[in-house]
Amino acid sequence: MNSTDNILLEVRNLRKYFPVTSGIFSRVVNSVKAVDNVSFHIKAGETLGLVGESGCGKTTVSRLILRLAEPSGGEVYFEGEDVFKLRGDRLRRFRKNVQVVFQDPYSSLNPRLSIGSIIAEGIGAHGIARGRKKREIVENLLERVGLSAGYYNRYPHEFSGGQRQRIAIARALSLSPRLIICDEPVSALDVSIQAQILNLLAELKKDFNLSYLFISHDLAVVEHVSDRIATMYMGEITEIAGAEEFYSRPLHPYTIALLSANLLPDPKQKKRPVILRGDVPSPLAPPSGCRFHTRCPVAEDVCRVKWPEPVEVSAGHVVRCHLVDREAPAPPGPLADLTFNTA
Ligand code: SF4
Repeated sequence: MNSTDNILLEVRNLRKYFPVTSGIFSRVVNSVKAVDNVSFHIKAGETLGLVGESGCGKTTVSRLILRLAEPSGGEVYFEGEDVFKLRGDRLRRFRKNVQVVFQDPYSSLNPRLSIGSIIAEGIGAHGIARGRKKREIVENLLERVGLSAGYYNRYPHEFSGGQRQRIAIARALSLSPRLIICDEPVSALDVSIQAQILNLLAELKKDFNLSYLFISHDLAVVEHVSDRIATMYMGEITEIAGAEEFYSRPLHPYTIALLSANLLPDPKQKKRPVILRGDVPSPLAPPSGCRFHTRCPVAEDVCRVKWPEPVEVSAGHVVRCHLVDREAPAPPGPLADLTFNTA
């Protein structure tokens, strides 16, 4: 990896297969490919949105990056270092530099600790500060995320969902990380509170020069925070592009279908929804060829037998679909009919 690329995190061909066992000897009879050959990168100061339906593998990707789960294959590099080979002090430095904000602010905070103690825990564990200085850092963080420093001795149950997520963000910031993985950080919150938390994350990104991996099932949420966006379906990345191109020129039928389900802010604008028939297939028996072919409205015979290779249709815009040709960057043939926006 070339350090001049300013790449902070690079994920290469990451895989996680969960074995399925049977019988009293727990013989492995199958495996669930939760994450299959996933590759992407995040530059310093950048936000990558990772979008897909529940169960598509996006949270497993985050757990692998954080080393909360063992990979079945592939590599993850953070600041050029192989994350899966880190030990001792280098692993501690990685843990300090990469923090996480979980989906559920109710279960991610220890109910027996005051919020001051929760935020101060990492500061003490990493030897950043002690005593009065540690408390000062925590009080500043509370104020920075929009809470009063006087809340230091209060407990998580005394706060609303939005306030708890602010506490979780303060905890993530306490170690001055370079990358924060936000795993559905607003999906458990009311819509009005979602906007406040998204604005806070955007401000903090600027102030602290942070990078985010922002995981969500909601494209409208991701649009507000992301520089680039990737879609995942059944463990695979199906499309990745810069945010502007992603919303103005989506090419993968799955992306087009997801975008067509988004509400438009202008009621005069109309759009034709792209309906996906049927359910997501069982991950125990993924479809042959393109995994999306059982639901794809424009699938062709080739899709049932041949796995589509990713194709870079323009700089940084990669699509995994047989109908997308690098020689024909405009949506070709049947894909053009899927266009969902009408004036
Ligand atoms: Fe649909 Fe075929 Fe493209 Fe898969 S490869 S998304 S089935 S058109």
